Amino acid sequence: MTGLILMLALCADPFPYEKDERELSADIHEHELKAHVYRLAGSEFMGRSGDGGERAAVHIADAFRRLPLKPAFGDSYLQPIPWLLTTPRADGKKVVGRNVGAYLPGSDPALADEWIILAAHYDHLGVRFGKMHPGADDNASGVAMLLEVAEAMALAPEKPKRSVFFISFDLEEIGLQGSTHFVTNPPRPYAKLKAMLVADIIGRSMAGVMDEHLFVLGSETSPELTNLSKAVRPEAGLSVARLGHDLVGTRSDYGPFRDRKTPFLFFTTGVHKDYHRSTDLPDRINYAKLTKISRWIEAATRQVADATDTPKWDPAPLGPGLDEVAAVLELFNRSLAKPEVVPLTEDQRKRFEASRDRLKEIADRGTMTADDRVWLIRTAQWALLNVF
Ligand SMILES: [Zn+2]
Repeated sequence: MTGLILMLALCADPFPYEKDERELSADIHEHELKAHVYRLAGSEFMGRSGDGGERAAVHIADAFRRLPLKPAFGDSYLQPIPWLLTTPRADGKKVVGRNVGAYLPGSDPALADEWIILAAHYDHLGVRFGKMHPGADDNASGVAMLLEVAEAMALAPEKPKRSVFFISFDLEEIGLQGSTHFVTNPPRPYAKLKAMLVADIIGRSMAGVMDEHLFVLGSETSPELTNLSKAVRPEAGLSVARLGHDLVGTRSDYGPFRDRKTPFLFFTTGVHKDYHRSTDLPDRINYAKLTKISRWIEAATRQVADATDTPKWDPAPLGPGLDEVAAVLELFNRSLAKPEVVPLTEDQRKRFEASRDRLKEIADRGTMTADDRVWLIRTAQWALLNVF
């Protein structure tokens, strides 16, 4: 540390939520989640890219180290991601990023060599156009959940049967490089990985209109995960809606796992107007909602880790079917009802109305055809690209 930087560091205000951030408890509290989000989205990590990303990795590793967990990568909490091209990087660095992780060994001797993953990427966009991009929702919200669920599960007397790996990937924003490196260099035999759960953007509201919703995508990859995601009841005020992941394409770190036919669940509250902007700020997160979501994810993680019906890859041809139709219908209805929140051009409004009518028709009919699903995927992707 140079003298000038040291001086600046000493002059900077102390982090106001340090006590909440360091609190260790088997319960997941709103003030703990909030402390993590404010820390990760603060100027200390400069948008969690480059040197700031490296500092964030060390910070997350330190948080894992305080818990009764084991390092995920041999004797290390960090997994360096090498630069793979033969041409050297301009900055000469041979390590371009690092995944961070820890695990809780399974308590059942017959199942402990099987493992599941709960993940949330920590990297974000750094400084762009002279502005720090704090990425409070993308994905400090997910990392906050990851740290609190890891803490809750590590401290609870009841331990999961399978081993649970808590992984925070790097370089998600640059082509899923962290998760891609992980699947080719897994810390355990890949064939024993039974499911992958990942959260990305879980602190706000899809398009500003789905205030009480958590979306779960990917449950359609496995009948066991379908049953399980329906069985975990959310607490009052939270609504869990299932969507097929093909509605959104490859939007997070599940990509490399899905390509290896690993059953997965992807949790998100969806994109909003501050997505990938410098205005994705910690004071815009709905912490009460993030708390309910984190508790739901903890319960779901426990269920997957303990499941007697081991999740198996067997995708449903029509995705989540009518559950998905109901969720998209709700989104379209609310978007049409709130033009001040979701401004639509005349053409867009017409397409939304026609889509709503077809969704209603499918819901009333009570069955979905293959053609309906192809249409729904095309419509959802058009809306994501052009409106939301
Ligand atoms: Zn993200």
